[in-house]
Order: sequence, then C-alpha cells, then structure tokens
Amino acid sequence: MLDKYLEFLEYLMGSLNNYFNSQAPYIKCKLGCSKCCSNGDYPFSEIEVELLKLGFNKLDDDKKKTILTKIGKIKKDKAKSTKTPFTYPCPFLIDDVCSVYEYRGIICRTFGLIYLKEGEKMKIPFCAYEGLNYSNILDKEKDMLMADKMQELGIEVEPKAYNIHYDFLTSEKVAHAFGFEYGKKGSLIDILSEDETFKS
Ligand code: SF4
Repeated sequence: MLDKYLEFLEYLMGSLNNYFNSQAPYIKCKLGCSKCCSNGDYPFSEIEVELLKLGFNKLDDDKKKTILTKIGKIKKDKAKSTKTPFTYPCPFLIDDVCSVYEYRGIICRTFGLIYLKEGEKMKIPFCAYEGLNYSNILDKEKDMLMADKMQELGIEVEPKAYNIHYDFLTSEKVAHAFGFEYGKKGSLIDILSEDETFKS
C-alpha cells in the first residue's frame, strides 16, 4: 500500500512545487527556517508514519536516540498538560533541520502556502504573522493581504489560495482515487505512541 501512497505523494509534490514556484515573490522558506516545525500538533496518519519510519530507520544511532528521547519527553509533557490542542516542537527536528525530510508528512509539505478550507475564508499561514511567507503584503491589523502593497513592491503575480487543506488531501475520496488508505489519524505524537518503533 505504501507504493500507492508514494505515487500520490509524487503527484502532490508536482502540484506543490508549481504552487510554491508561482508564489515565489511571497515565499521565504529556506533551509534552517523551522518555524512550522517548532510548535504545532502536526496532524498525521498511520501511512504517513510508515513513511517517516523508513527515514528514521536510516538515521545513525545518535539521532535515533535523540528523537526517541524527545518523543518520551513530549509524551510526558502531554500527559501533564491541559492545553487544547497540545502543541510541541516536532521530535524529528534536530538543529533546526528536519532529520527525515524526504520522508516527511503531508502537513510538512503543504505548510507555507495560503489555502482554502471548506466553509471558511482563505487561510494565511501563521508564519506570515511572524515576518515570513506573505508578510510583505500582509496588513496584520486588518488581517488581510493588501493589493496596494503588491503594487508598491512591483509584484505582478497575485497571492492565490490552493485546495491543499490537510482534511481534503487526507480524505477517503483522495485516498481511494490513488488506491491506498490513510489509517488512523491524529496528532503526530499520538500516532507515534502507538507504533512499536517509537515506543521507548
Ligand atoms: S517531520 Fe520534519 S518537516 Fe515535518 S514537522 Fe517534523 S521536522 Fe518539520
């Protein structure tokens, strides 16, 4: 089943690369920027963790130990926390770099673009409010992207919202079209907690 999921990822990445390229005047993603991995609840599914595990298994023992230690600490912190949703730094982030980048999940791949969520207005990624993607045309007070800022900067390409919300991309409809199943979904730490590889 993982091979079908990989086919889907190849298709998705083709689209996402085009989207990121088309939005280049607004994108500040670069190696070492780890805002989107530093504090979140990271929706993940079982099949995404299966892929993540392939990347984890290729790491050296020191990195594996570091990740397992982080997972243990996050689980303990979560058990004591009353925060909803419980947010945490991703345990796979080491020295501000994803240690399993080629094997990362869907949410990791889509983050940074404006997206559409059914029944809601378009969503701007939170890093815009922290001086990153789309911040060059964001009016924080109005919570809007401003056409006049585009003109001032001489940017011709319009900001565009894409249909890349996690719930849509991980819907049964999408999975069935590609012939695989996502399995159980939840916060990354909860899905990891149920996998023998990450139990410590
Ligand atoms: S798996 Fe990698 S890209 Fe995804 S949140 Fe964790 S560190 Fe970031």
